[in-house]
Amino acid sequence: MVTDKKLIESLFLSIKKYNTPRYTAFLKGDLKKDKVLSSNPNMLMIMWLMSAQYDAEKASYIPFLLEERLGSCDMNFLASLPLADIERAMSEPTPVHRFPQKRASYLWQMAKLITDKYNGDVENIWQNVSSIEISRRLREIPGFGQKLSSMVPINLIRNLGIHLSDQVTMDIAVDVHVERVLKRTGLCHQDADYAEMALTARKIAEQEGRFAMELDLPLWATGKFFCHEYNAECELCTLNDVCPKIFEISDLYEQKYSITYEEAIIAGINPEDNNAMKLLRKNLESWNYNEPKSANEAYNHHGIERLQLLRQIKHQLKDDIGFSVLYDKLEPRRGQKARNLSNAMGLPLQPWIGLGSSVRLREFVNEYSNYLGGHIIDKKWSSNEP
Ligand code: SF4
Repeated sequence: MVTDKKLIESLFLSIKKYNTPRYTAFLKGDLKKDKVLSSNPNMLMIMWLMSAQYDAEKASYIPFLLEERLGSCDMNFLASLPLADIERAMSEPTPVHRFPQKRASYLWQMAKLITDKYNGDVENIWQNVSSIEISRRLREIPGFGQKLSSMVPINLIRNLGIHLSDQVTMDIAVDVHVERVLKRTGLCHQDADYAEMALTARKIAEQEGRFAMELDLPLWATGKFFCHEYNAECELCTLNDVCPKIFEISDLYEQKYSITYEEAIIAGINPEDNNAMKLLRKNLESWNYNEPKSANEAYNHHGIERLQLLRQIKHQLKDDIGFSVLYDKLEPRRGQKARNLSNAMGLPLQPWIGLGSSVRLREFVNEYSNYLGGHIIDKKWSSNEP
């Protein structure tokens, strides 16, 4: 553990700067929406419930969409509705979540439990109890797993400024933002695990006569707002003057070439070879999947063309499209007719054209599931998000 006095002082000093950022970062800076969400415990509960297996930014809009579609997010009201109404609101006219039916059922069950057990008042879950008790109560609600249940008390302190009786003994929550800051500042080793990182924060705090949770907000906010995974904005960061900026080799490659270390390996390029990396970037910029030749080469050859196709697929899967939509996008000229036409024109066949093409594409996508961050289940794309 690095005990850089100046760095640690700067971290504690930045607490004032971040104060309580609430949810503006998730709501694209919309202060009005942030105010509504932060002051409405029903909406907050819905947002937390929806954030499991889903993007936090997108989840924070769901309570607003549900209020619009159902008329209210009040738990007593939701509990009084038939489940089918909530299912419809979650799915129509457009699905609000990756798993709308399952989350609708969790929401309905949550509303019933809060009505029966907490008098319909969400705040009764966290008023005058410890963080441990809050987590225990949340785990009784379908859809709240271990991770989500332990994040809520930290959210209450970090984003809403709520004081919990045991917060002096609580550890920070280590997420990807906190991890980047702890490692790039050198406060933790590059291979430190969750427990080690939490322990480091505890020791730093003890050293300064403070408690660990005080570090949670500045670490998280620094990571979220400045210490991005790629293209960290060090010049805007409060730690700029004191941070040694220890970047992982893969971060540096991404910053220099807009290509990750993993992508260079997929393309069969040595990431240490500057010229080859420059050439790869040039190739990626000029590639066009819509040319049948390009798609065909990507499927048939390992190397740059394959990486080009994978990057395109990854980009499209980012929009939460299902596998069948992806298939349609990648094979605009489907079937025997298209096959005959390509033959007649002397064009190479696109790799997914013709019988069994959906199976071929599925196999291809699953082969690269680690890189794409998910896999296909029952013809549907499922992300690896927790
Ligand atoms: S100075 Fe740069 S590397 Fe260090 S914590 Fe801030 S953004 Fe991250």
